[in-house]
Amino acid sequence: MSSLKEKNKRILIVDDEVDVLDFLKIYLESLGWEVTTVPAIRQAFDELDKQAYFLVITDIAMPDMDGYEFISKIKEKNYGSQIALMTGFGYNPKHTLVKIYKTIRYPCLFKPFNRAKVAEAVQNAFDNYNNGSAAQAVDPNSQN
Ligand SMILES: [Mg+2]
Repeated sequence: MSSLKEKNKRILIVDDEVDVLDFLKIYLESLGWEVTTVPAIRQAFDELDKQAYFLVITDIAMPDMDGYEFISKIKEKNYGSQIALMTGFGYNPKHTLVKIYKTIRYPCLFKPFNRAKVAEAVQNAFDNYNNGSAAQAVDPNSQN
């Protein structure tokens, strides 16, 4: 039995741009979410191993691993988190983004952010997490 109070409100945000991390942390905490930010995917796995997050929001273009590989690994390891992606203006849509849309269909947030869309994506992820819909996602491994 769980009350609203006891629900997991933790969001993990992964981006190599510190400004993006700062903005999302301040904004989402102002809405009552608990936000942890990390600048590299290696650290994201450390956090995910420590505690459960209902949502991971990750940049697609990261220096240590691309976002597609990252979310594939999150699924492999069964962390159970919902996933949303971020991408910046100027990112080449012929590469990772299209691959992600075609195979996984996670929500994607475009920079610069529309606050209402960020808030909505987070709330939807929270609802899906608590309704036990592991994902509106297709397993990327089954597509290959
Ligand atoms: Mg980046």
